[in-house]
Amino acid sequence: MIPYARQSISEADIQAVVDVLHSDWLTQGPAVPRFEEAVAERCNVSYAIAVCNATSALHLACAALGVAPGDWVWTSPNSFVASANCALYCGANVDFVDIDPFTFNMSVKALSEKLEDAKRLERLPKAVIPVHFAGQPCEMAAIHALSQEYGFRVIEDASHAIGAQYQGEPVGCGRYSDIAVFSFHPVKIITSGEGGMALTNDAQLAHTLRSLRSHGITRNPALFENPQQGAWDYQQLLLGYNLRMTDIQAALGYSQLQRLPEFLRRRRQLAKRYGELFANLPLQSQRQNDDSLSAWHLYPIRLAEGLDRKKAFDFMRKREIAVNVHYIPIHTQPYYRKLGFMPGSFPQAEKYYSSAISLPLYYELTDSQQDMVASCLSQALEQS
Ligand SMILES: *Cc1c(COP(=O)(O)O)cnc(C)c1O
Repeated sequence: MIPYARQSISEADIQAVVDVLHSDWLTQGPAVPRFEEAVAERCNVSYAIAVCNATSALHLACAALGVAPGDWVWTSPNSFVASANCALYCGANVDFVDIDPFTFNMSVKALSEKLEDAKRLERLPKAVIPVHFAGQPCEMAAIHALSQEYGFRVIEDASHAIGAQYQGEPVGCGRYSDIAVFSFHPVKIITSGEGGMALTNDAQLAHTLRSLRSHGITRNPALFENPQQGAWDYQQLLLGYNLRMTDIQAALGYSQLQRLPEFLRRRRQLAKRYGELFANLPLQSQRQNDDSLSAWHLYPIRLAEGLDRKKAFDFMRKREIAVNVHYIPIHTQPYYRKLGFMPGSFPQAEKYYSSAISLPLYYELTDSQQDMVASCLSQALEQS
């Protein structure tokens, strides 16, 4: 079987984990800050806070920005449910901004129009969460300009996008956002088993994110609000959580980060090859913006109108090619329908979804496996 995504684990990755198991610290040791500093340095950002997964990083990002009951948070319907759930965890309301039919990312035009309406209704969002779908950066400069005009905060859901570049800078550098979030789930670009990270240039936000990650507790006497009772004292200043990453995970993540350039090179090569193999097929690949470089977490295609996606999908699955679909629009999920969302509200995301298939794309995919995928797809399209 050829999966749509999978991790690549080297002997060095294994050794890094084994070393932690032989060490004094399985969690709250030196591996976590080492991983954080390495990601921060690579992304050219001041602070990086590792947590147990990206879902938690998104939750903490909302909480640190003060998202609370009564607030609105907007994101893309073409994403994993976590991009929206994070706002609900904070008691806020969620709404969506439809996508661009060519990049499959949040449409800046739709965002701008929706903001104009929201201003009139006095229902402007507290935060907007653009999602760098498949690893391609959203139009962050334009989104940032709108955030200045309308006064909202920006969280980048960069779960797909470690290693991507936007206008010559690494995604995560925070030029156009308050916080950016990476995922290290095994299907993503690099993995720590489970894991996530929140990146920011704001010292206060970094402090709050760190504090919320670990119960809102501090052991730094300079920050105590009660008089210090003794050397054992710690004080809880906020209602935080336990969302820490272990040293076992961080060691794997750090080792994988060393391989990131190699991972990206191969993913970009495979993506280019798919483009060449599909030159004459009735399908549309994700349009790539000139000012960005995707990390190619996914290779999504959109079948030409009239073709039967389900048929093509089942045809490939039957031939042991485990294609996938990204994403079922979040607002059509049963839970979101109970919140009042209806199919038809975000037509571009729904139309894209109805014709979308994600093809296998991962570091260890070989050229000959890729050729098999392409020829199977070509047959699938003929029969659909
Ligand atoms: C994977 C993913 C998440 C959640 O990441 P976890 O690390 O699994 O919690 C959030 N948003 C998007 C867009 C994702 O693809």
